[in-house]
Amino acid sequence: MKSYDAVVLGAGGFIGGHLVRSLLNEGKSVRAVDIKPLEQWEQLHPEAESMSSDVSTLTTARTAVRGARYVYNLAADMGGMGFIETHKAACMLSVLISTNVLLAAKESAQRYFYSSSACVYKEDRQQSTDVIALREEDAYPAMPEDGYGWEKLFSERMCRHFHEDFGTATRVARFHNVYGEMGTWRGGREKAPAAICRKVAEAVISGKHESSLWGDGNQVRSFTYIDDCIKGIHLITDGPYYSPVNLGSSECVTINQLTSLIEDIAGIRLKRKYDLSAPQGVRGRNSDNRLILERYNWEPSTSIAVGIERTYAWIYDRLRKEGRA
Ligand code: NAD
Repeated sequence: MKSYDAVVLGAGGFIGGHLVRSLLNEGKSVRAVDIKPLEQWEQLHPEAESMSSDVSTLTTARTAVRGARYVYNLAADMGGMGFIETHKAACMLSVLISTNVLLAAKESAQRYFYSSSACVYKEDRQQSTDVIALREEDAYPAMPEDGYGWEKLFSERMCRHFHEDFGTATRVARFHNVYGEMGTWRGGREKAPAAICRKVAEAVISGKHESSLWGDGNQVRSFTYIDDCIKGIHLITDGPYYSPVNLGSSECVTINQLTSLIEDIAGIRLKRKYDLSAPQGVRGRNSDNRLILERYNWEPSTSIAVGIERTYAWIYDRLRKEGRA
């Protein structure tokens, strides 16, 4: 049987694709797996063994993780607010991936990483723009984001019990709004940073300097740049702690401030229309980073100004190339 240092599930997606790159850069042997056909993967790394497979059944999950030392599960049917508010059943069905991959990893892998989300946190702590940063224990008593958040909370809880009952070496990070180059930027699954970068880039290219924003623009968020997310995944996976850890930036911005920042980068000002009927999520969310600092002496530190400039440049470039094509 062929063996691999790492198997990454969801490798055709945004974070999974970057994770495969970083593992390869460290000299690791990697198998990359995603349900999408290979030609639709955002990043295809020739040094990895890449395979297209739906890992939501136990049989396919076993095949996918066979021979793996570390299993990184980033596979999920997910997207930004526009997707998760309207696809609750589809989001919850990711429980089949989480369950079967964890079962398969338990049988053979030395370590299992699970990508949870800030959506596990209770809505009542996120109803004000005067934000209270979320601590890990705030997830209980449970009242997470409907659909997507329940699946994440259940699956991370399952990791805990697999660790406690079966000795499976599970590790869990709660990602907070990850963005960056090669993230989904159109099609309905994109998140706010990519969506706003695209709208601004479209305005630059078309010369029509107006666009609509979801909500009143005063919603507060923290956004985590992809390089920080990848570094955090490695620290948490390699570390000794099995309870969930926030992996998010603690730098907060409103959607209006984020838009202004992107406009400054692009050198334009948009006439903003606020769409109050669009999905807008919670009013305010931020990551409390005391735990990650205490355990790993590190926290995400790429400023939104730096990360969004790179992201905007990438999306602008994609749009220009498509225009030429
Ligand atoms: P993504 O949509 O780009 O990647 C997920 C990948 O999983 C996709 O390529 C998809 O095709 C694949 N997938 C879905 N169902 C599958 C199946 N049955 N078998 C195999 N592959 C399957 O999303 P992402 O932003 O890279 O997120 C990765 C993980 O991080 C997900 O679990 C997500 O819920 C979690 N997360 C992401 C964020 C964020 O801001 N991006 C925030 C919180 C949590």
